[in-house]
Amino acid sequence: NYPLSDRINAIQPSPTLAVSQKAAELKSAGHDVIGLGVGEPDFDTPEFIKTAAKAAIDAGHTKYTAVDGIVELKQAVINKFKRDNELTYELPEILISAGGKHSIFNLLSVWLNPGDEVLIPAPYWVSYPDMAKLVGAEPKFINAGIEQRYKITPEQLAAAITPKTRLLFLNSPSNPTGTAYTKEELAALADVLRSHPQVLIASDDMYEHILWADFPFANIAMAAPDLRHRIVLLSGVSKAYAMTGWRIGYAAGPKPLIAAMKKMQSQSTSNPASISQYAALAALNGDQSCITNMVSEFKKRHDYLVAALNAIPGMRCIEGDGTFYVFANIEAMMAEKGLISDIEWCEALLKENKVALVPGSAFGAPGHCRLSFATDLDTLKEAVARITAFANN
Ligand code: PLP
Repeated sequence: NYPLSDRINAIQPSPTLAVSQKAAELKSAGHDVIGLGVGEPDFDTPEFIKTAAKAAIDAGHTKYTAVDGIVELKQAVINKFKRDNELTYELPEILISAGGKHSIFNLLSVWLNPGDEVLIPAPYWVSYPDMAKLVGAEPKFINAGIEQRYKITPEQLAAAITPKTRLLFLNSPSNPTGTAYTKEELAALADVLRSHPQVLIASDDMYEHILWADFPFANIAMAAPDLRHRIVLLSGVSKAYAMTGWRIGYAAGPKPLIAAMKKMQSQSTSNPASISQYAALAALNGDQSCITNMVSEFKKRHDYLVAALNAIPGMRCIEGDGTFYVFANIEAMMAEKGLISDIEWCEALLKENKVALVPGSAFGAPGHCRLSFATDLDTLKEAVARITAFANN
């Protein structure tokens, strides 16, 4: 009998990882499963990045580094913000962590107390609510449906803020919906936030570069420079450089917050892996055309998948602005098949036609499913054929 802490009992294992695991189990039992559940690029980490990591090992960069990351990498992050976002940061405003997830967890740990409210626009990335619960805070959701391209409005934001609200998550381009906010839309949200100074804004820019919209990337720090002291930008190299396994993320924000996150890191993980830091340094400072190539491939797959899914009876999805996900509404098909939840729908599809997707409920949006197109076009075509067969069955 192992009576575990209330803290761990309050949360669920990551549902996206659970789906990949189920699909892997079926696969190893000999079934021909197509997994569109995972959230990582199918591309290999670019060669020049791998070379830099090997060189780091040979140069003896295999020891502890500064807790908050090597200065060269923090400087590369500063240069990235200048180059891509016209934002100026100083070294004490930057923290390197073991992945984007780690950066977010550090922030929530140092900012939230039990009972504090965290505003999360839904559909949301699966980890936000559970991370908030881990630190005793209360997730509060703002629902944005397909008709508003899954983006919250200033009116919704204003109505959701209470005196207990301490944090707002923004994630653009969004996992799972693939839609992004324009600079103007962010400025309108900032207008609301300006009169609620107790609310910190966590801007998760993980998919910044995986964007093909007809408007440029913007985050709220670019849209509302006067709110800079209340904004923490969270990002990393995982998605843009196909480096999910290397575990490097970073945060940029007010010095006192970054210092607290560093203290948190010093008593939990210490520095992120030294070799990965040198790899990330090469990624940020190197030739950025590796991103462009990947994004143009993602866009091709996106265009194919959105058109193909919309041709399946009972499925409906909108064109995304970026990421490598399509978020499809399946309510009509669920009704047609007499399935009462998207979880049942995903289970039936996996059992009958061997395609693994993540149910929308995992992202706070029942009646949907998320398909990752971080896989080659032939596999996507086979997946579409199988989902079509499932729909017609
Ligand atoms: N933020 C979003 C929106 C994500 O989708 C992910 C990864 O799935 C992360 C953060 C975390 O990235 P990392 O793998 O670097 O921890």
